[in-house]
Amino acid sequence: MEIIREPRVTLIARPEFIEPPHLPVRWQGEATPGERLAEYAGRLCYMSQSNPAGRTTAEYLQNILRQGHGSVFEHAVYVLLIEGISRSCSHELVRHRAGFGYSQLSQRYVDESAAAFVMPPAIQGDPALEAAWTEQVRAAQAAYVAAVDGLMAKYAGVENRIHRRKLAREAARSVLPNATEVKIVVSGNVRAWRTMLELRLAEGAELEIRRMAAACLRVLRQEAPALFADFELYRAADGSEAGRVGYHKV
Ligand SMILES: Cc1cc2nc3c(=O)[nH]c(=O)nc-3n(C[C@H](O)[C@H](O)[C@H](O)COP(=O)(O)OP(=O)(O)OC[C@H]3O[C@@H](n4cnc5c(N)ncnc54)[C@H](O)[C@@H]3O)c2cc1C
Repeated sequence: MEIIREPRVTLIARPEFIEPPHLPVRWQGEATPGERLAEYAGRLCYMSQSNPAGRTTAEYLQNILRQGHGSVFEHAVYVLLIEGISRSCSHELVRHRAGFGYSQLSQRYVDESAAAFVMPPAIQGDPALEAAWTEQVRAAQAAYVAAVDGLMAKYAGVENRIHRRKLAREAARSVLPNATEVKIVVSGNVRAWRTMLELRLAEGAELEIRRMAAACLRVLRQEAPALFADFELYRAADGSEAGRVGYHKV
């Protein structure tokens, strides 16, 4: 049985900015396509393509954040593959609606007999809790396998093999724990990512989604530093990682 102790976050798509030759911007400094796209959208609002203040993209975007003109961040969409999170964590994640799209592993179609399980951060490092948790999860997985077998026998008369398996798995999954690993593709525009990160990095957020949010922030900040430059990761008093944002919900 595979036990997962931290999430894995991979960037799988980024914006491609195509500058219109008839309406170019006088850029200053280096920038990534997503950052350029946001600046381009912001400058269009005021037709300030000549960049009268001579700002770099990073300076321009910081000013957008300061003004709370967050709608220009909606054009830049980044897509992350998130693996190694629990079903309870993904359930919290998908509550974030505005500006997000999700595609999550289906427990109806996918055989979970060999599923991995995500150990909650609070349990990690405590040998007694880890042992008890591992046993509980192992028992749940065995119950799932037994339920699938029983249901496959019950539905033996269903001719379509794919449909038969789906009928069995969709019922048997009810005994899987919240700790079952899911994989999910998450597309989000920068305004949406910022709002989710602000909420889920805060000390009030549950530990696993906080850890996932920190992993997402690291990937996004490496990809587009100016769009996430005001986020700060720090150690909370209890030793866990948390984060705060300089510009609240733009
Ligand atoms: C610490 C913490 C504890 C939580 N505990 C619980 C809990 O006990 N039970 C529970 O059910 N949920 C809980 N949640 C989830 C929470 O209620 C939200 O569903 C989740 O944080 C998504 O936030 P959001 O709606 O602001 O995000 P999004 O859906 O991404 O929306 C972003 C923003 O868009 C605007 N918006 C989106 N949809 C609408 C709309 N329909 N109408 C008007 N404005 C809209 C709002 O300004 C919103 O903040 C918790 C969240 C956190 C961070």
